[in-house]
Amino acid sequence: MKPILVFIIYIIGFMIFYQTMSYINMDEKILFFLQPNPAKAKNVKPIKQKEGDILTPKDAKKPLKLTKQEIGRNAWALLHSMASAYPNDPTEEDKQNMINFLKGLAHNFPCKICGKHFVKLLEDNPIKCDNREELVNYICDIHNSVNKFLKKEIFDCKKAFDVWGGDCGCSV
Ligand code: FAD
Repeated sequence: MKPILVFIIYIIGFMIFYQTMSYINMDEKILFFLQPNPAKAKNVKPIKQKEGDILTPKDAKKPLKLTKQEIGRNAWALLHSMASAYPNDPTEEDKQNMINFLKGLAHNFPCKICGKHFVKLLEDNPIKCDNREELVNYICDIHNSVNKFLKKEIFDCKKAFDVWGGDCGCSV
């Protein structure tokens, strides 16, 4: 076989493999191996996002620094930690602040797909924040809805507080 033909088959094979992996959400893990180590390379170009993954303003010259997965992971970490630190006996002001925060976060979420999903989740599942346990379970449940949608493992919500709660070491 001619070398050029082998090269073309190789490129097509790689493209099919990459597309399949990104379809099943493995793109980030694969790109991790293809990326230079950010600690060693200073002028690393950011990973190119797939169109629609990220709310990139029309005037933006480059994709966001973080991928959809990184933004999602960090957002969940904040949401679970906040729920775990929420008062057992919140005031009406505490409750309203939490409702405003969740709605505001959903509307301003930097990843368009996740933001739309978040707004819909809040519409379909009215926020429950009468006490800490209720909010911990609520955030766990909406995370599980997204897990289900993305065909990820369902988390046991009985473990949510043990996993995410605790002393942050920053008491006032
Ligand atoms: P993540 O789902 O980010 O979870 C992080 C860690 O939380 C896990 O490792 C696990 O230890 C723990 N965990 C998992 N489930 C629970 C739970 N129920 N309760 C407590 N702890 C748990 N991505 C898309 O591609 N499409 C979308 O439509 C989309 N919608 C999103 C909507 C919202 C509101 C958010 C915040 C994110 C959304 N994402 C979406 C991102 C997606 O949920 C993941 O964050 C991303 O795919 C990275 O997944 P991960 O496997 O690292 O774990």
